[in-house]
Amino acid sequence: MDYPGNLFVVAAPSGAGKSSLVKALLELDSHVKPSVSHTTRPPRGQEINGREYFFVSPAEFDAMVKADGFVEWAEVHGHRYGTSRQAIAQRMQEGSDVVLEIDFQGAVSIKQLFANAVSIFILPPSWEELRSRLERRGEDAAATIELRLKNAALEVAQVDRFDFVIINDSFDRALFDLKAIVHAQRLKLAAQRRARAGIFAALNIS
Ligand code: 5GP
Repeated sequence: MDYPGNLFVVAAPSGAGKSSLVKALLELDSHVKPSVSHTTRPPRGQEINGREYFFVSPAEFDAMVKADGFVEWAEVHGHRYGTSRQAIAQRMQEGSDVVLEIDFQGAVSIKQLFANAVSIFILPPSWEELRSRLERRGEDAAATIELRLKNAALEVAQVDRFDFVIINDSFDRALFDLKAIVHAQRLKLAAQRRARAGIFAALNIS
């Protein structure tokens, strides 16, 4: 599937800092837009329906799967999450660069569907640091933290399927890296041809 903007897919084990990095990128770069996923997980803390996620019941999620409403969906930590065709199509029609903050299974599916997609994997600097970030976050019960760490070991083993890797030992450095990837992608010949077709035509470059 071809698409005029750039599509970035960011995956990471939970606690690696993915959400904070993507949030900072979105604040700094108004040309990058998020795609809001659907999930069967209940809202946490200050989350608002339609902003972080569309929160739906398992039956509603099933109905969307049946109606082929998702470009990809996956079960993560016991809940289902999916990127709806509508969410991604809307961003694409706007011509925006889109960032998908999804799990590694979703990232792999998106890479197969969208030839232009750029996949980025965020790694923690160590297992000790990942554990202490999950504990400090205080969002999850001890058993959930153990489950997330167990899943993290499986997730990091998938890193070789990704185009770029960021090691999040310092937030500022990792954000710099993420911005650099986005910027470099925009300068690729194919991306420039898509985004600046008029200039290429005026320069008689076929
Ligand atoms: P959380 O419950 O912490 O918000 O998210 C759990 C995991 O699900 C994270 O890795 C998050 O990126 C991932 N996720 C969120 N939305 C989607 C989606 O639409 N598709 C897939 N495959 N994963 C998602």
